[in-house]
Amino acid sequence: QAKHAGRGTYRYYTEALTQAAQSRLQLDGRLRRALERGEFELWYQPLYRLADRHLIGLEALVRLNQPGLPPIGPAEFIPLMEDSGLIVELGTWVTREACRQALAWLDEGLDCGRIAVNLSAAEMRRGQTLARLSQALDDSGLPAARLELEITESGLMEHIDAVEPVLRQMREMGVRLAIDDFGTGYSSLARLRRLPVGKLKIDRSFIADLGGETDPQGAQLVSAMIAMGRGLGLSVLAEGIETEVQARQLIALGCEAGQGYLFGRPAPAAVARQWLSPLPENADEALAQTIWPD
Ligand code: C2E
Ligand code: MG
Ligand code: MG
Ligand code: MG
Repeated sequence: QAKHAGRGTYRYYTEALTQAAQSRLQLDGRLRRALERGEFELWYQPLYRLADRHLIGLEALVRLNQPGLPPIGPAEFIPLMEDSGLIVELGTWVTREACRQALAWLDEGLDCGRIAVNLSAAEMRRGQTLARLSQALDDSGLPAARLELEITESGLMEHIDAVEPVLRQMREMGVRLAIDDFGTGYSSLARLRRLPVGKLKIDRSFIADLGGETDPQGAQLVSAMIAMGRGLGLSVLAEGIETEVQARQLIALGCEAGQGYLFGRPAPAAVARQWLSPLPENADEALAQTIWPD
């Protein structure tokens, strides 16, 4: 098409490409500097058992909010960091910081349940994830049973051969594993059954279809995903719950846990702290009895 449109159009394309490459380069520089200066931040979103709205954990979500610059979200910078390899450093920081924060809450006598950290499959493929993980746990003193790692279904299946043995070793360390954004990738069910994963997190795009009369097939789909997860002995959590109607429908469909704006938006640690109740006497037993299977 550009050929027929003539030289002007060609130049336009070249300039547009150069601009895109330049802004990528600028963003890359900004991310490197932010890492060096320790300017990333973790926010936390509460995870609840749906039946009684008991807080069962917090998901750590990374943020970059620098003074004088427009904030950018992880959806924008994670893919770039995966390409450049910076994701390894970011992931190391995120894991260490989440473990540190969780132990600080526990030391204060506050029950943060299980802390969930997102792990990029691209990061795991680059290696040393295991060593970094056990270092983070050792240095923080957080019991491995208090940590859950979330891996997106698409990333997992794309790199399954490299990732599966690593997951196995992580589980042996005592860390829990969850499949994130479930329904958006292409899981081989045979494979899924063999993975050492305890939980499915149904992607929020499916939950958005619930609660209206407009899309009965959407509800069927969610129902099937929940039944499949439970059939495999997995705990099922719904992401992106925004309305009471959705929450009620999910309970009726047998979904155990959820997160979403209805219950709480991601917030800085100081705010998340206010959601926590005192640790029960038998904290470890109580944790073992949460809906997460072993
Ligand atoms: P995710 O792991 O699926 O996290 C859930 C995302 O959905 C979060 O977006 C959260 O703010 C948003 N969310 C939660 N409840 C609702 C709701 O009710 N409605 C709507 N519309 N959205 C809701 P966020 O924080 O922008 O993160 C986006 C993605 O970036 C995450 O998706 C995760 O895949 C990735 N990410 C975030 N932090 C990290 C990290 O530390 N490391 C890695 N590797 N990835 C991360
Ligand atoms: Mg997640
Ligand atoms: Mg998710
Ligand atoms: Mg999601």
